[in-house]
Amino acid sequence: MPQPNLPITQLGNPILRQKALPITREQLKDIETRRLITNIKKVLKDSDDLGLAANQINQIVSLFAVNIPPKLMGHRTVGVPLQVIINPKIIERSKEIIDDWEGCLSFNYLRGRVPRHQQVVVEAWNEQGESITIEAYDIYARVLQHEIDHLEGILYLDRMTDLKSLMGLEEFRERNGKEMIVE
Ligand SMILES: [Zn+2]
Repeated sequence: MPQPNLPITQLGNPILRQKALPITREQLKDIETRRLITNIKKVLKDSDDLGLAANQINQIVSLFAVNIPPKLMGHRTVGVPLQVIINPKIIERSKEIIDDWEGCLSFNYLRGRVPRHQQVVVEAWNEQGESITIEAYDIYARVLQHEIDHLEGILYLDRMTDLKSLMGLEEFRERNGKEMIVE
């Protein structure tokens, strides 16, 4: 995996536990915010990872990027192109819960099984500040829940119901043969 060229905030840094501030329409036009958007897209694109929240690159604002290759998406959609999602809010959650592997760039040496809603509906802005509604299933829904948690200062470790599944990355690769979700 190519190393991102900005340092990723690591587990133990209090920034990962802070609640992100919403972004105003004025702020969205600021040069600082535009720079953040450019940077977060670049860092995510340069990695093989599926999502990255602003506090993972030291900005405590309500923004994250996702990028999901089609091969991971299953039959429902063709993949999620690199996009920035701002001020997200989950407005619907399916009853169905799925347990699957997750990782996180802020503690990339671990993998654990995390229960998530199989489907969510999210209201947000795109990077132009237009309102969007996202209906997401499976991996996309998982990535959205993982990243929205980051904006609340929540890590996937907090969502695990069985810490016994926690595995070191090397052990995980040996046992599973391939790397699964990293966010
Ligand atoms: Zn993460």
